[in-house]
Amino acid sequence: MRLLVAEDEPELRRQLQLALQGAGFAVDTADNGIDAQHLGSVEPYDAIVLDIGLPGRDGLAVLAAWRREGMDRPVLLLTARASWQEKVKGIDAGADDYLAKPFQMEELASRLRALVRRSAGVASAVLLHGAVALDTRSCALQVEGRPVALTAHEYRVLAYLMHHRGRTLTRGELAEHVYGQDADRDSNTLDVFVARLRRKLPPDFIVTVRGIGWRIGAAAP
Ligand code: CA
Repeated sequence: MRLLVAEDEPELRRQLQLALQGAGFAVDTADNGIDAQHLGSVEPYDAIVLDIGLPGRDGLAVLAAWRREGMDRPVLLLTARASWQEKVKGIDAGADDYLAKPFQMEELASRLRALVRRSAGVASAVLLHGAVALDTRSCALQVEGRPVALTAHEYRVLAYLMHHRGRTLTRGELAEHVYGQDADRDSNTLDVFVARLRRKLPPDFIVTVRGIGWRIGAAAP
């Protein structure tokens, strides 16, 4: 799962990036409204954290522009004050959730997990399929009830596949959702991660769809 964090305050931006990476997300950042609007229009983020008070273009204008062009990714607004008028404006402009500063990183991560689940049509924070349970709160994998260690990259690949069970994902789509903007997106690397993951999962858990990509579970109708 890949996020955009648009926040102009450098220390908060850095803390957000570190905390959300620690929570299992790939994280891109923007420090002004112009760059944020551009990135959110061209990159398929799984969710976006958008500060309202941004230089260049304020968060509400950025959000309104995205929604006008049909960008339907989940957006969580960060508001400076807990003013009800600002919340109403934000939600009416197309926000899915908001959090007033100051906030706890754990609460932000939890709300983002919920937004990502909702947009993928998943109800539970623990993703289950066959003998495999992936807990998105702790990034922990269990196979037949036994814990199995995952690297951060392996977690992101498996989490994206599990959120989209039944759908065949192309290498390109998977790469766009597991790597940040500055990562080296060599598709061979993705094959290496999937091969390593396979060794940690039951046989044939990840189905290879020749010439296309990968899938978990039976193909959805
Ligand atoms: Ca700000």
